[in-house]
Amino acid sequence: MGKIKRLPQEIARKIAAGEVIERPASVVKELVENALDAGASRVEIDLDKGGKALIRVRDDGQGIPAEDLPLAVERHATSKIGSEADLEAIRTLGFRGEALAAIGSVSHLIITSRPPESPLGARVEVRFGQKSEVVEAGCPQGTVVEVADLFANLPARRRFLKSDRAETTRILETVKALSLAWEGVSFRLKGQGRLLLNLPREDLPDRLGRLLGLGKKDFLPLSLEKEGVKLFGFLSRPEKARHDPRSLYFYVLRRPVKSSLLARALNEATKGFFMSRSYPAGAIFLDLPPERIDVNVHPAKLEVRFRTEGQIFSLLHQAVRQALLEKSRLKAVET
Ligand code: ADP
Ligand code: MG
Repeated sequence: MGKIKRLPQEIARKIAAGEVIERPASVVKELVENALDAGASRVEIDLDKGGKALIRVRDDGQGIPAEDLPLAVERHATSKIGSEADLEAIRTLGFRGEALAAIGSVSHLIITSRPPESPLGARVEVRFGQKSEVVEAGCPQGTVVEVADLFANLPARRRFLKSDRAETTRILETVKALSLAWEGVSFRLKGQGRLLLNLPREDLPDRLGRLLGLGKKDFLPLSLEKEGVKLFGFLSRPEKARHDPRSLYFYVLRRPVKSSLLARALNEATKGFFMSRSYPAGAIFLDLPPERIDVNVHPAKLEVRFRTEGQIFSLLHQAVRQALLEKSRLKAVET
């Protein structure tokens, strides 16, 4: 007899969910991204026990029609792409149609939603993979997603989570990073019995200053466009440097990304301007035709691959160099 057996569907689903949802901060990331894709102008997040007991994300976006609610929680069901061609040109934060299904298989998920044109809202629940019927429910325009008892059916994963406070910190970081790319959206985060973040709708320099504890004048603007790639953003002046490289945020098509290529280019370009072990703070945004990148590298979509690495490297290098040199030239004129 052969040794290979097909895993029961329930176990296969749990394994797949574990790849998308690693910890409470991954749930918050997926839910806030959904709110932003839905065109929300305000996003409110509440946490209990670092998100382990409860995560609630409320938005005022376009909502989910009652007849779509059962599909929204199915795997590979999405309203964001429809064809293979769309996959080549992703402009939304989500596209895999996997997050809600994954969350629903490892928590008690409740979605209540009302599109602006519907007089009444509707609700669906998924309890550790078991989907309920859709029922009518009163709801302001938009969507409320509640995630209770995350990983209660995956004890190994639950044990690996950090303290409530540490998980809350990760969530705060996740929301901060997203909020820098969506400065026109207001965000409110409550957890540990406190108001952790309260951001009004504002412009990018204001949001950046607020989150990094700097003033508008402490930043150098970056702006350069070449061969269809647009770079813009703000970098703290060398005298406002940080001892922690993590206050520099990179974005590609408004998606927070980690990229060793971008980090290296920045490092090279700032050599000689920042003292050793001090780092610029700020946010750098790249806009380019979506077909020139691949965000489909990892389920959490944190990593991005560029088709033309050399071009991206020199664009960032040049933009940063230009801003820093401009600044020292102005200083020379002043003195
Ligand atoms: P994806 O974001 O990749 O499409 P999700 O599982 O995160 O997959 O969501 C499935 C679908 O549910 C989305 O395509 C969208 O149509 C709908 N949806 C989820 N969250 C929201 C929300 N907050 N507002 C409106 N629609 C939503
Ligand atoms: Mg999504």
